[in-house]
Amino acid sequence: MALTGVQIFKLLPKTNCKKCGFPTCLAFAMSLAQNKVELSKCPDVSEDAKKTLGEASAPPIRTFNLGVGDKAVKMGGETVLFRHDKKFFNPCALAVNIKDTSGDDELAKIAVEVATSEMNRVGQQLRVDAISVEYASNDSALYAKAVKLIADKAPDAAILLNCKDAAAAEAAVKTIAARKPLLYGATNETAEAMANIAKTHGVPICASAQGLDALSALTEKLQGLGVNDIVLDSGAKSAKEIIEHNTQIRRSALKKNFKPLGFPVLNCVIRDDSTLEASIASVAIAKYASIVIVSSVEKWKNLAIFTLRQNLYTDPQVPMQVDQKIYNIGEPTADSPLMITTNFSLTYFIVSGEVENSKVPSRLAVMDSEGLSVLTAWAAGKFTAAKIAQFIKESGIESQVSHKELIIPGQVAILSGALEDKLEGWKITVGPREANAIPTFLKSRAS
Ligand code: SF4
Repeated sequence: MALTGVQIFKLLPKTNCKKCGFPTCLAFAMSLAQNKVELSKCPDVSEDAKKTLGEASAPPIRTFNLGVGDKAVKMGGETVLFRHDKKFFNPCALAVNIKDTSGDDELAKIAVEVATSEMNRVGQQLRVDAISVEYASNDSALYAKAVKLIADKAPDAAILLNCKDAAAAEAAVKTIAARKPLLYGATNETAEAMANIAKTHGVPICASAQGLDALSALTEKLQGLGVNDIVLDSGAKSAKEIIEHNTQIRRSALKKNFKPLGFPVLNCVIRDDSTLEASIASVAIAKYASIVIVSSVEKWKNLAIFTLRQNLYTDPQVPMQVDQKIYNIGEPTADSPLMITTNFSLTYFIVSGEVENSKVPSRLAVMDSEGLSVLTAWAAGKFTAAKIAQFIKESGIESQVSHKELIIPGQVAILSGALEDKLEGWKITVGPREANAIPTFLKSRAS
């Protein structure tokens, strides 16, 4: 069970030496109790205390990486059941499954699709993270070859070895050990053999069992064999099972500190019907999956899943924002229009996208409104005539344009009079209320 701050304090050196960055041992203990700091920050903890505290302060859901390098996916480490309680930390990895019998061309095609799946959405790079190579051939040499081909063609993707045959899994691991593939196929029968492979090559394991009782028995067995980086596959297939199992796992880990289920969760949601598959994937992502395996990489499906995942894993208390500055869109000249909006990411990307669509080179002044959209910022007093005037004056834009005309969003037309008073010599033009009207608006001015 988790220790209280006072219980932790009793085990610390109590010297108040401040090496941990906290003014007192008690302050450090209180933060440790809330999982806000790691025990390793105190260099003077005794070995005995370290053991007791290490166990007690271990995160309720173990954290480790899927894959290696810059694009490795951090999994686990979640601390709440509901996003609004704090935030979710580590977005679910999206993996696509392919059988080793698919043939070199098809294997290469899927690898390239994954390698080129990256897209930018509201300032974040989103991608398919992993490829699951399924052992369907019953030929370990063919399997290892397929795994190697996939790894070569998708050099940044994490690899899942979807294989219940320990000998075939080991042959495949050996070919790409540096990529730290996930051994997806440890069952009660293969636990010892898979644990040996995992320990020898330092790779994580996915424990697969039918139901949570069998699964927790299996993870205890694997831990007893010395494996700690474990992913859970409870065998849940339907949306109902996924919600039930994943919720029970998350509750057991967070509320009961039940260690055998304190690991990231994998759901395989493969269906013949792509739309149904995307729907089940969405359910799994919304309800705590750390890896979701789908059958194909299609742009529409990726976009839907990326969007859901991104929305779930943003911090609900911190609006996404872009930097305050004047953005050039196209190659504006001194005569080009100057528009203004707020720095809420979604607002910026929608407005700048529509300005781009207009093909009219323009400048977009983006003002810091603490990440609020136009109307909200205006209502909160962060997008006022005085603040806009100050921003425009301090931006230095006046020396770059041959006109003194500022186009404001139609939703804050009410500011135009006050702005003309504050920005002496400037003409304030009220632009469209909705961003999708911007292309017509800009083109009509240019003609
Ligand atoms: S480093 Fe350790 S001993 Fe020093 S103040 Fe922090 S908790 Fe106390």
